Amino acid sequence: MIIVMKAKAKKEELEEVVKKIEKLGYKPHIIQGVERSVIGAVGDERGKAKLQSLEVLSGVDKVVPILKPYKLASRDIKPEGTVVSIDGRVEIGGNKIVVIAGPCSVESEDQIIESAHIVKEAGADILRGGAFKPRTSPYSFQGLEKKGLILLAKAKEKVGLPVVTEIINPKDVDLVAEYSDIMQVGARNVQNFALLKKLGRHNKPILLKRGMSTTVEEFLMSAEYILSEGNKNVILCERGIRTFETATRNTLDLSCIPVLKERTHLPVIVDPSHATGFWSYVAPMSYAAIAAGADGLMIEVHPNPEDAESDGIQSLKPHKFTALMENLKAYIAAAGRI
Ligand code: PEP
Ligand code: MN
Repeated sequence: MIIVMKAKAKKEELEEVVKKIEKLGYKPHIIQGVERSVIGAVGDERGKAKLQSLEVLSGVDKVVPILKPYKLASRDIKPEGTVVSIDGRVEIGGNKIVVIAGPCSVESEDQIIESAHIVKEAGADILRGGAFKPRTSPYSFQGLEKKGLILLAKAKEKVGLPVVTEIINPKDVDLVAEYSDIMQVGARNVQNFALLKKLGRHNKPILLKRGMSTTVEEFLMSAEYILSEGNKNVILCERGIRTFETATRNTLDLSCIPVLKERTHLPVIVDPSHATGFWSYVAPMSYAAIAAGADGLMIEVHPNPEDAESDGIQSLKPHKFTALMENLKAYIAAAGRI
């Protein structure tokens, strides 16, 4: 249920509603809107009629049900959209298109620092680099783990870009949070509910990737797991889904962008690198993602893709990334973004 407060509701009136929601056995989530506050009351669906009685309280305008299975992720609760602040330096979900770029994996100090310089000079806003790698084969490079996190933080320090890196195991949440500005949940962990719940109890922004076979509804239910534990800083990322087509690594589901934008207030970004699996398809799909309404892009860039430990074939060479960033400007302007 959503409890919509009156535009002029006082703080005490809001507090009274919060107390009543808790007394009825529901969990209140306050969402401060531009004009008014709304409170999401989540809990056992069967007893929700009891919440209707809150309509008689003085600060309450109306009590409306959320019909979707995801509640806190639903746009009904926050029509104006969420803007996630990254360390107070970058905002995702505002008018500005945000570009996250860097190598698939952190491989060495030189490699990640060189990558950071390259992507920063080209105009990227955030540096990416995996330290814990979820590889299909146990014989493939698994990442430098803690050492990789330390090197990524070093690159952040040196170059001055916030960083994002993947978290795989719930036991590493505090460790990864210490060295990163955004924690990434990869496609393979989108329904690792133990991990999602643990991340929900943190306040670090979470970049949640869509699984290769999760529907939009399942994807939003995964976001709901994080939101329902209290972490409101969730960014969604479409990275391609598995279809019958084998010419590309995955099929980039561009249509999910307007669908997500309609159904959720959370920011949506696109990863054309994992979606296509080949460097030459990355630029056209980046342009298309902006046209479709994405709030940003995540792009793999490597100083020497031919030597990369992972995903070299889909990684852009530095000069290709610089050209992409330049060409992107016209698409960004055409989409009315900055
Ligand atoms: C990645 O970003 O390096 C990655 C492993 O992506 P995905 O989870 O989308 O496959
Ligand atoms: Mn990769």
